[in-house]
Amino acid sequence: MSQPAAPAIGAHVDQTDPIAEARARQAPLVQFFLGDPQGYKGPEISYAGGSDALRDDAAAAGIDLYVHAPYIVNVATTNNRIRIPSRKLLQKHVDAAAAIGAKGLIVHGGHVNKDDDPAVGFDNWRKAIEATDLKLPLLIENTAGGDNAMTRYLERIDRVWDAIASAEGAEMVGFCLDTCHAHAGGNSLETVVADVLAITGRIDLVHCNDSRDAFDSGADRHANFGAGTIDADLLAAVVRDAAAPVVCETPGGAEEHTADFAWLRERL
Ligand SMILES: [Zn+2]
Repeated sequence: MSQPAAPAIGAHVDQTDPIAEARARQAPLVQFFLGDPQGYKGPEISYAGGSDALRDDAAAAGIDLYVHAPYIVNVATTNNRIRIPSRKLLQKHVDAAAAIGAKGLIVHGGHVNKDDDPAVGFDNWRKAIEATDLKLPLLIENTAGGDNAMTRYLERIDRVWDAIASAEGAEMVGFCLDTCHAHAGGNSLETVVADVLAITGRIDLVHCNDSRDAFDSGADRHANFGAGTIDADLLAAVVRDAAAPVVCETPGGAEEHTADFAWLRERL
């Protein structure tokens, strides 16, 4: 039997010159924000030459681009003053990410308020998918915590997927599995790949991060590999089993990321 191909490994990087960041890490893919990850203003392309130059330069260099949507996007919420601007911001990021030729746009699952019925949030996800013109894959990411979160626990991810299955454009929705979030969110890394695949049928991207915090702590603090609370072999097994491109959202710059890549490759 032939060995499965080793996954492509890259990192979350600064948005000013993602091509240079990829080269500094010898990485075939990078992820970055377009504009302020905490604000409703945006997206912005800070690359010199703008969208077209970034798309063409990335293609010429053989570098795959992934865009992470702002953290404030919450299309599930029952608060329409957050939900509607979130949907608009999401569409703008879809458009901007498609314009640079990105392979996917990653967005967090969001949450409803503490006393809300989560069923409203699942249906809001369906509405968001129907309202959005998905010009590239939208990869919904699991989260570590959050009050009444949509994608912390598997049972909730299952309900989100059920809700969006009937939406027009559902085939453009994929999944991004974050190892830190899964661990801190209380999902066993021993079974999480199989569990997610049973629900979504696909894992398009892995956010490979160690976790500073304990299993089921609900905290979202990423750590460099070996510096956190996740078992080394288990972390590698998730990457191996998911068989998807990997983005390390670990602390530091090129030097720390390169060390994390090496640490991971040694164990795959
Ligand atoms: Zn992540």
